Amino acid sequence: MIRLFDSARGEICELRLRDPGRVSMYACGPTVYDLPHLGHGRYTLVWDVARRWFTFRGLDVRFVSNITDIDDNIINRALRDDTTETDIARTYEHQWWAAMDLIGVARPDDTPHATKFVAEMTELIASFLESGVGYLTSDGVYFDVSRVKDYGLLAGQPLESLRAGARVEANDEKRSPLDFALWKFAKPGEPSWPAPFGDGRPGWHTECVVMSLALLGDGFDLHVGGFDLKFPHHENERAQAVSQGRDFAQHWSHSGWVMVGSEKMSKSLGNFTSLTDLLEKTDARAYRLLVLRSHYRSPIEVTPATIADAERALLRLDTLARRFDLAALAGNALEVATDFTWTEETGKLCEKVGAYLDNDLDTPLAVAALFEAVSTANTAADKGEDARGKELALAVNALFGALGLQLLSSSHHMDDLSATLVAERDEARFTKNWAEADRLRDELVKLGWVVEDSASGTTIRKP
Ligand SMILES: [Zn+2]
Repeated sequence: MIRLFDSARGEICELRLRDPGRVSMYACGPTVYDLPHLGHGRYTLVWDVARRWFTFRGLDVRFVSNITDIDDNIINRALRDDTTETDIARTYEHQWWAAMDLIGVARPDDTPHATKFVAEMTELIASFLESGVGYLTSDGVYFDVSRVKDYGLLAGQPLESLRAGARVEANDEKRSPLDFALWKFAKPGEPSWPAPFGDGRPGWHTECVVMSLALLGDGFDLHVGGFDLKFPHHENERAQAVSQGRDFAQHWSHSGWVMVGSEKMSKSLGNFTSLTDLLEKTDARAYRLLVLRSHYRSPIEVTPATIADAERALLRLDTLARRFDLAALAGNALEVATDFTWTEETGKLCEKVGAYLDNDLDTPLAVAALFEAVSTANTAADKGEDARGKELALAVNALFGALGLQLLSSSHHMDDLSATLVAERDEARFTKNWAEADRLRDELVKLGWVVEDSASGTTIRKP
């Protein structure tokens, strides 16, 4: 049984699945107008770990995460850079996947792009106008939140107190400051789509509700995201679904903030300005380990000091990999427990770690138990119990693999060129450019790698 904190219920509860054995999961993806920041790295790592853990447990996970490729920020960036919105979206989506590949976040099963679902969005908005939940103003179509009985469920506050705390906006055509834009009418020079109620573009909250329901269906299991999306974004997604009488996400989970200390984002202190910047300066695995060592709902501090600390811990793991000649796991592949052999001792370790992870994804306790097992493996080998040491080391490797953390012995260390080729090959496979994917496979084979494919990406290992 997997338990997870549910933001709507306000407590840890059992993850009840619509179809036994299968998990349908949606994470709000990025709006692609800038380099991914550290917060993006954190939430994608957290939900990548959850997805990997569910898979390791034998659940069949379908993970959908969107790309918002039209939005005010994209339009403003295009103006600033004197280029088109399409160009901005394409450029920064590319940057996004490059960073995701580097931190080992496996590609989602589906990455819907908002601009491909505009017809479904206009249909939904038209139905809101018809039922009176939506209303027209001079600049767009808005959603009347007072028409949703339990509005404020995710915020954990009733409508009245939310209204009292809301910022009064310039747009006095809105019936309430909490009402949100479903559709924004086109301004000259902006991209727009035709709609019976006036050409324009969709609001962000409408994009996600349409894409999640279209791809995962009513009553899908789990909607996740960073804590900052809980209100108003997720509240507003939910409001649109329930106002239609549709069953939306059964569970909601949110991950915590990234702190950069009091000297926020100061370059003079050597802090990292973006995820891309962090990944240029450090071993990408260190960020994953830093994330794993904190509970997903707690804030984390990402500074050169906390990253260096994670790198030291990583060194201990790589030393274990060298000593016992462990093969590199994880990467883009998702591991499954039944693919490994467990002895009585390592079976117990797997059970212990599993119990922590099943209980609200308690990665700090799981990682602590794994580091204890690292010590036990080394001590066993020191005493001449080589077989026992190796079995423990293999189990540690498998369980870190389940969390997406790759242990590397030096002989298996992926050099920069190979890492780039793997990333390029994943990109090629992702865009269904099979000829290029084959060519990149051949390049990797020439470098001495065994190349393996999985649904979620390329894995390489030495023969
Ligand atoms: Zn969303």
